[in-house]
Amino acid sequence: MIRKIFQILVLVALGAGSAAGAADARLGAVHLVASEAAARVTLDISRFMGERFFTLDRPFRAVIDLPQTRAGRGLRLPRARGLVAGMRMGLRPNGALRLVLVLHSAVRLHAAWAYSPARGHELVLTLGDAPGAGATAARYTIPTPIRARHEPLNTGRDIVVAVDPGHGGVDPGAIGPDGLEEKTVTLAIGRLLAHRIDEQRGMRAVLTRDSDIFIPLRERREIARRAKADLFVSIHADDVSQRDIAGASVYILSLRGASSEAARWLAERENSADLKGGIKLSDKSSTLASVLLNLSQSATISESMTAARQVLASLDRSVPVRKPQVQQAAFVVLKSPDIPSMLIETDYISDPLEDRKLANPAYQRRIADAIFRGVCAYFREHPPAGTLFAEERQRELDRLVARNR
Ligand SMILES: [Zn+2]
Repeated sequence: MIRKIFQILVLVALGAGSAAGAADARLGAVHLVASEAAARVTLDISRFMGERFFTLDRPFRAVIDLPQTRAGRGLRLPRARGLVAGMRMGLRPNGALRLVLVLHSAVRLHAAWAYSPARGHELVLTLGDAPGAGATAARYTIPTPIRARHEPLNTGRDIVVAVDPGHGGVDPGAIGPDGLEEKTVTLAIGRLLAHRIDEQRGMRAVLTRDSDIFIPLRERREIARRAKADLFVSIHADDVSQRDIAGASVYILSLRGASSEAARWLAERENSADLKGGIKLSDKSSTLASVLLNLSQSATISESMTAARQVLASLDRSVPVRKPQVQQAAFVVLKSPDIPSMLIETDYISDPLEDRKLANPAYQRRIADAIFRGVCAYFREHPPAGTLFAEERQRELDRLVARNR
């Protein structure tokens, strides 16, 4: 709510916010490997922008929309082959580039983002059970949810939750007395949480990592921004010196921690640092930009607090909780000025008992489920505009009003 008021104020003050702009991604090439029963389509895209896809029947088609993406100059679509009877491309009124694959038969569609330094970002579409597709997608990072969609695009959008398994790759995080590494625990819980979110109608998850790789903290926030996340949840299981401390705690950013990052944002605003909701910082004077950024950051911290309280309350109902209040600290990973963010210390890996508990898949699931229920409760009460959750809440309110008339 606070953010909505803030955005209205800003839009009124500035005349209007513009959404599309120089920050578009470019589709450089489309590759097709196909047999009669399966196909793999690889899209070379200049940067990660997220995607939406769904299928249509009679004739069977797979439709992929790439938000804020343009076709590169001279881009040519591959010729029909095997399962793929044809391919076409067009620009949607909302600025998304739409790719339509006409198929000879109905098959399952999977999409996964991959990245490698040599080849950059790729969106890999797997139709049917294409050989070798799994290996391609697993090559590295930014996986997006694998989910085919049948509903039309202009119904309520999904709420996007960025799930950030802490540490990874060369950074193992804390190490328990039995040698259990934090990065392993956070990835397991993160995957379980992402899965629960993807199962929920009207919600989808974006994992900042889905394998044992190192991703810098700022890049984790960037992944959330590019996916237009409504919430960022970082998962940890850290070390403490006192052995008798156990239980979960939930952190959000402190205002003091926010101010140092604001300066950096302002310095970067020439490049791409525009706020969610179409508020551009790049064309403002530095004073106005700094005021806008601070307003946005404090609104975001207050939303983070609301969300974090829900998650902490939910954790408290199923696992031991260390502190009954949400904690505030200056974690770098929480410093998004426009995405409500929280960091969850699920438990302390340094405790020999907790170490064993954290290694247990059933306990990992209990934590993931509790986080999910908290996140869900938050969005039911505070659904972002334009989402399925917002539509449902509106219907609920209408019913209440009708009953009390
Ligand atoms: Zn950690």
